Amino acid sequence: QANPLHAEETVSFAGRKGTESERTFIMVKPDGVTRGLVGEIISRFEKRGYKLVAIKSLVPSRQLAEQHYGDLRTRPFFKGLVNYITSGKAPVVAMVWEGRDVIRQSRAMIGATNPLEAVPGTIRHAFSISIGRNVIHGSDSFDSAEKEIGLWFGKPGDLVSWEPVNWNWIMA
Ligand code: ADP
Repeated sequence: QANPLHAEETVSFAGRKGTESERTFIMVKPDGVTRGLVGEIISRFEKRGYKLVAIKSLVPSRQLAEQHYGDLRTRPFFKGLVNYITSGKAPVVAMVWEGRDVIRQSRAMIGATNPLEAVPGTIRHAFSISIGRNVIHGSDSFDSAEKEIGLWFGKPGDLVSWEPVNWNWIMA
């Protein structure tokens, strides 16, 4: 039965906000995959100290892409965006990363939506000059992370719970 003392311990897809169990959804888009940037992007997250808890390569269905970008349904670029993500010319690489403040920090690592406005050092600045081909997606809030992880990795067992042996050093 429900124990009020444990009510806040309920673990969601995005972990617990503001703790080292926080998780976010990251996706290398087809342009990033085609250009061979998957390793570079994974490397940046690993080196920063984040933990990979799920990864898969796939061509998303139209339904999945439309759900993922549901908030942008009324925007003029929506159809083109969905066509591009689902084209199959290259797959996407979908991932879940975990660690302290990962939602906000990954947005900082990714940079502004328009790569021409992204600051040097960010992924979009380093690898892109087009808003429509900006290499990578990252959840922009806890609620988005919750929704997106559930959408892409919602089945039991999709997320691997593990602790690197040096986790205590990274999180000290
Ligand atoms: P972000 O990916 O930084 O969270 P948004 O959620 O606003 O940005 O937009 C989602 C994606 O839609 C962007 O990453 C980009 O690929 C595409 N997009 C946004 N604005 C435009 C635009 N003006 N023209 C073409 N594509 C766009």
